[in-house]
Amino acid sequence: MAEKYDLLKALKDHFGFDSFKGNQQAIIEHVLMGRDTFVLMPTGGGKSLCYQLPALLMEGTAVIISPLIALMKNQVDAIRGYCREDGVAHFMNSSLNKNQLECVKEDIRRGITKMLYVAPESLTKEDNIAFLRSINISFYAIDEAHCISEWGHDFRPEYRRIRPIVSEIGEHPIVALTATATPKVQHDIQKNLGMEDVAIFKSSFNRPNLFYQIKPKNEGVDKDIVKFILSQPQKSGIIYCMSRNKVTTFAQVLQANGIKALPYHAGLDAKERAENQDAFIEERVDVIVATIAFGMGIDKPDVRYVIHYDMPKSIEGYYQETGRAGRDGGEGKCIAYYRPEDLDKLEKFMKNKPISEQEIGRQLLGETAAYAESSICRRIFLLNYFGEEYKSDNCGSCDNCLMPKKKVEAKELLLNVLEVVDTLKEKFKTDYVIKILRGETNADIESFGHENLECFGIGKEEDENLWNAVIRQALISGYLDKDVETYGVLKMTQAGKKFIKKPVSFKVVDENDEEEVDDDNASRSGGGSGGAVDPVLFSMMKDLRKKMGAQNKVPPYVIFQDSSLESMATFYPVTLDELQNIPGVGAGKAARYGAKFVELIKRHVEDNDIERPEDMRVRTLPNKSKMKVSIIQQIDRKVALDDVAMSHGLDFDALLSEIEAIVYSGTRINISYFIEEAMDEDHQEDIFQYFKESTTDSLDAAMDELGDDYTEEEIRLVRIKFLSELAN
Ligand code: ADP
Ligand code: MG
Repeated sequence: MAEKYDLLKALKDHFGFDSFKGNQQAIIEHVLMGRDTFVLMPTGGGKSLCYQLPALLMEGTAVIISPLIALMKNQVDAIRGYCREDGVAHFMNSSLNKNQLECVKEDIRRGITKMLYVAPESLTKEDNIAFLRSINISFYAIDEAHCISEWGHDFRPEYRRIRPIVSEIGEHPIVALTATATPKVQHDIQKNLGMEDVAIFKSSFNRPNLFYQIKPKNEGVDKDIVKFILSQPQKSGIIYCMSRNKVTTFAQVLQANGIKALPYHAGLDAKERAENQDAFIEERVDVIVATIAFGMGIDKPDVRYVIHYDMPKSIEGYYQETGRAGRDGGEGKCIAYYRPEDLDKLEKFMKNKPISEQEIGRQLLGETAAYAESSICRRIFLLNYFGEEYKSDNCGSCDNCLMPKKKVEAKELLLNVLEVVDTLKEKFKTDYVIKILRGETNADIESFGHENLECFGIGKEEDENLWNAVIRQALISGYLDKDVETYGVLKMTQAGKKFIKKPVSFKVVDENDEEEVDDDNASRSGGGSGGAVDPVLFSMMKDLRKKMGAQNKVPPYVIFQDSSLESMATFYPVTLDELQNIPGVGAGKAARYGAKFVELIKRHVEDNDIERPEDMRVRTLPNKSKMKVSIIQQIDRKVALDDVAMSHGLDFDALLSEIEAIVYSGTRINISYFIEEAMDEDHQEDIFQYFKESTTDSLDAAMDELGDDYTEEEIRLVRIKFLSELAN
């Protein structure tokens, strides 16, 4: 059946993409053959397309089950953006009134609706089931299928009822999709959906464009985050906090620092929640501070950083939440603040839960701590957790690879640990083993008489942190094993026994010697556009996109994605036909949104005498704007301004004039890195304050007012910063 379709052409026609990502094509062929299909693919991998494209091609309507009502609208908007006909996708949930529901049903009966999104709750309503029985269904897609499993990070009991209800509506092929790939969750999903005999497509869970960093959490955390956000102007980011309270107060901290931020948590009323979410998606604010209630299914592709103020409860959660950064393949920085006490607190919260649940929870917390404290490549650790091997020992895009922690030889220490574990007959957990090593007693220890053991106190010189590090590293290196059945009892492995007989070098991180990853390294990694993008045009198109998003009541990225705008700002398409050569622009999008963009591009090309070769391949700029572009790019790369001037054969004054022209034309640039190097802090603040209060930006007026203590150059530099930050 799949041969019937030219899939590449369909992909281009409907979505404007030139090629499939990963194993999308194989998956889609399976779905088109009407076979049950199980898709395990990381966030941003392109799961939606795996059901959307077949849905568009097949007879009938695909029923898409997706967990959150609030987010369905986004997904439906996104599809409509690709098609000429709004009726192609609908959602059915409790937010629709009777009339709206009737319209939806009418479109489905008329056969123009290819995709119907439903919430699992709606599937339990008799009316809805009766209606679904009466229509022609192409297949079921179950998105975020990990909600079925208690071992997933977002268990939803309603998801357990999908299977019986599907049977009631009628058997059709099922496509299950998830970004959680632990073997346990995978097994639960298959079992619950009765998909024993299913084609499984598991992609690599590596997200090469994400940069991972764990920072120690101390009193400076607020300041640290504020500083980071201010260094990422105009970029979207998510800050996750554990409690609603923290969300509220930290959003206020950010606001007080002039950052456009809003809170989001389940305690806000529905209206405020929706408003804040929209403000973020529509880019009216840069930052959302949220509990984990925020984010599932939010398909904003250009989130540039995800910060965990508190460490999540599980590695699945961490992977999922960090996964919301850089879905478009561009830059995505993931920074988490860790201190062990936070996880202890989470463990205490579980006290009232059933024992089995506590044990699951505790084990997940332990893995999270191990990840946070580990000195091995974050990527290797994460992928290993998902049962995948990463074939390099330096990923070049995590803190541990870029800034390896100092390690110390711990051969003797490991021998001590192994001796204690052995003496205790492999019956005790980490905490207990450490107490014995350190020679500390408690009621437990006394009841066993363990304070009389020969090894009691053999490690009292070293502190608890170091012992923890040794044991964790021993677990990672395979000398010890944690027993799953008994939840964390330390067992000796074959390798451990061998080590006792014939010790080899064994290194652990010296925790007291932490260094910071410098920002240069951090920003060098991760995606990025690279090269020839015309920043002025790009920025104008971003504005246009925002405006059109507001007019059409859709998020900006539904209009065109960042990568498409970048490509437009490189190749300057000036007709709707040419526009379709741009990745991410199909016929539907071109027809719907293209006209204003090509108009803008055309005007820009004419105004700036940009030479536009027919084949839209090579881009040449007249010298004048070429220099501006290059100046902006150098500043983006934080090149010192004197060097920028020199490389263009300008003197410093002339360079400042060029930069002023750029800023006055509405482009934001950030020269703080240079000002901070070159100027006295008080001077910066005084001048900045002056412009804040002044009614004019005139240089002469400023020089008069500020007096001889400040040079003209200083005033001009700070004025550029001021204009860029506040006026643009
Ligand atoms: P997931 O649901 O797996 O997290 P999405 O379906 O939301 O991922 O897709 C992530 C991003 O990848 C979206 O911005 C989407 O437009 C883009 N995308 C999907 N398939 C392709 C493709 N074949 N070529 C280019 N971009 C794609
Ligand atoms: Mg998805």
